[in-house]
Amino acid sequence: MAEIIVMKAVNAENELYAAQVKETLDKRGILLINLLSSPGSGKTSLLEATLKEWGGKYRCAAIEGDLFTDEDARRLERFGIQVVQLNTQGSCHLTANMIVKALEKLDLKDLEFLFVENVGNLVCPASFNLGEHKRVTLLSVTEGKDKIKKYPKAFYTADLLVLSKIDLLPMTDVNLEDLKQDFFRVNPQADFLSLSVKTGQGLSQWLEKLESWRIQPNSA
Ligand code: MG
Ligand code: ZN
Repeated sequence: MAEIIVMKAVNAENELYAAQVKETLDKRGILLINLLSSPGSGKTSLLEATLKEWGGKYRCAAIEGDLFTDEDARRLERFGIQVVQLNTQGSCHLTANMIVKALEKLDLKDLEFLFVENVGNLVCPASFNLGEHKRVTLLSVTEGKDKIKKYPKAFYTADLLVLSKIDLLPMTDVNLEDLKQDFFRVNPQADFLSLSVKTGQGLSQWLEKLESWRIQPNSA
């Protein structure tokens, strides 16, 4: 099947760029986190809350993947961090070569955390390794209970599932225990936490998780 061969070639090329990204960041001890979710799950809000809570404790930068706008990038720039906007001009996911280009625009000196906000989409972003150290998939309780079953790849490739907008749980038909079970069924190794940037519930666990992931420069 020609289509399958093309996809393999695309992925092989992507893996080369991803390895380049990872090598660059490993050398400097910069942790790359790839944030995946559907639109409106709260990726930018979670980053805002993170930067606000840390108040400059760690040197952070962000790469914002958006189809067209730069609104999310502006929201993060208010925290005084470096932000690179990647407008994909309609492409529905980021690829590792885009990250290579974004890294050229960043001053990497002394950076500790690099957050990549992927294009809001639960489908194809899951298929592209960006050279990340950790993949975090967000799911908000308002998205309903069926997303893990419908879009399993975004969930089984994640290192952590963040269930967002947990303050709204009583207004939904989502059963927390059922949802956790669905998640651990597809991804038994991953971590799970629930939070709300509105109430602050679960935020300290999120920040602890990020800190536990920190890496040291690999001078080899
Ligand atoms: Mg956003
Ligand atoms: Zn796509």
